[in-house]
Amino acid sequence: MEFEDRYRQAQKPKYDCLLFDLDDTLYPLSTGLAAGCRKNIGDYMVEKLAIDENKIADLCNLLYKNYGTTMAGLRAIGYDVDHDEYHSFVHGRLPYENLKPDPVLRHLLLGLPIRKVIFTNADKVHAAKVLSRLGLEGCFEGIICFETMNPIHKSTISDDEDDDIEFVGSSLSSTTTNSNEIFDIIGHFSQPNSGSKLPETPIVCKPSQDAIERALKIASINPQRTLFFEDSVRNIQSGKRVGLHTVLIGTSHRVKGADYAIESIHNIKEALPELWEAEKISEVSYPGKLTVETSVTA
Ligand SMILES: [Mg+2]
Repeated sequence: MEFEDRYRQAQKPKYDCLLFDLDDTLYPLSTGLAAGCRKNIGDYMVEKLAIDENKIADLCNLLYKNYGTTMAGLRAIGYDVDHDEYHSFVHGRLPYENLKPDPVLRHLLLGLPIRKVIFTNADKVHAAKVLSRLGLEGCFEGIICFETMNPIHKSTISDDEDDDIEFVGSSLSSTTTNSNEIFDIIGHFSQPNSGSKLPETPIVCKPSQDAIERALKIASINPQRTLFFEDSVRNIQSGKRVGLHTVLIGTSHRVKGADYAIESIHNIKEALPELWEAEKISEVSYPGKLTVETSVTA
């Protein structure tokens, strides 16, 4: 009996969830979507926020670096960006036609008898469009996206009755912003000893550790038993800090924080054959384990 227990323990699959980033993870950088996205973000800042074109490159770089996404940074420094308008402007004109159905990846994913969840900073319209273009509908249990992490226009809700969602910063009730209130982040970094503090953002997104922990909680994911697939090194490193096992996508060179590094998501079976080995074990020992319901927003 004792032997049997030990045997079962030894056979327990190491992972019970696979968490996937979307952009540049489930399809390659060469599709041009990331480049299109960067261009559209710049255009949005010039056209909609009347930011000087010459400042766009520096500003985008600083916002992305310090806040995770440009939009999170724009909100932090004082622009009252409408999330839906921003997302439709930035994603609306992307070359989605460059994304082709990927039956090989579909087959790989459907053959994995483990929970599969998407975790992206992008909005749900974009996520759905990408998955549909790639022919990956039905491959994932759910999608954790911008709307999941930042529930409906939280910035316009004055009464803070939802205790589950805590935001950093206290400017959420402010819906009006004028240019006088914009924090000069370029100036801030050009005078490193000025003593001024960077404003905080109300947007919850990767690579913030808090955002990752929140996503794990929403989808009832145990990081110790989860593999996280990501193309972003800083997201990988944050993921590692919260206890996830990590797979860096897009390069075979492992960096600090990455347990594995693979050039393409297509190499998953060569790099992690044990995921398929779990199939046999789970068929025998864990029938019905995959029908877990979560509150993930799909
Ligand atoms: Mg990515």
